[in-house]
Amino acid sequence: MSTEPLPPLGSPHGDVRHISAHRFGIAAGMSGWGWHAVDLEAMGRRLAEANNEIAKPVDVEVFSVCGARSHLVRKLGAFTYGSRWLERLRCERCSWVAAINRGTVEQEIDLYTAESGDAPSGHLLRHIFTAILADAPPGQEAEAGHRSDLLAHAARHRPVITACETCIEEGSAAAHGPHMAQCPQAAVLCEECSFTAGSWAGEWQGVTTGECVVAAPCSVLTALGEYYGIPLTGWEGRR
Ligand SMILES: [Zn+2]
Ligand SMILES: [Zn+2]
Ligand SMILES: [Zn+2]
Repeated sequence: MSTEPLPPLGSPHGDVRHISAHRFGIAAGMSGWGWHAVDLEAMGRRLAEANNEIAKPVDVEVFSVCGARSHLVRKLGAFTYGSRWLERLRCERCSWVAAINRGTVEQEIDLYTAESGDAPSGHLLRHIFTAILADAPPGQEAEAGHRSDLLAHAARHRPVITACETCIEEGSAAAHGPHMAQCPQAAVLCEECSFTAGSWAGEWQGVTTGECVVAAPCSVLTALGEYYGIPLTGWEGRR
């Protein structure tokens, strides 16, 4: 499954009643990297109010649901889980708004907890998501709010399993021998707190460089865990 096609953005005559169930489109952030979600219904309404007819609705400059100035890229399709465009640099704030409005909260939780494998810190994150969903007030329809933004804050600090450089480059068998299914130096990190290489690193962009490596769960997750009364012993000992 890759790209889901988007319906036309209203008719060429500004009639916005035909906007589809695929409410969120994919947009590229204009500052920094990242794929955001755009509420196509709200966008259509705004265009109609402004009486701004677009003969060829191709790529339009808009604001994402997280408030970032973005460029809607219609050919990328809808902001959904199957989209290959969203495998990396998916905006967590937009993603939670879409999940809450579509009723795909369980899928959203799985998306972030999958990156920690079976590490205890991943289970801690799942408990935190559940606690926030039960506690923080919801926002307006298809807009970021207290609940979605707090969930996104936790999601950005998700525990991620990493391997050594040789493993990333050549695979674990080449790095440590044919009997090693997993890297012996594998660690569960917070990539948000750790330093990762920028675009200057070329293909190594996004990889941790060693000077600042922060183990998971970082203090963001332990603070949330403490606030929500989730017992932290057990997550701390084994990362
Ligand atoms: Zn966003
Ligand atoms: Zn962190
Ligand atoms: Zn390795």
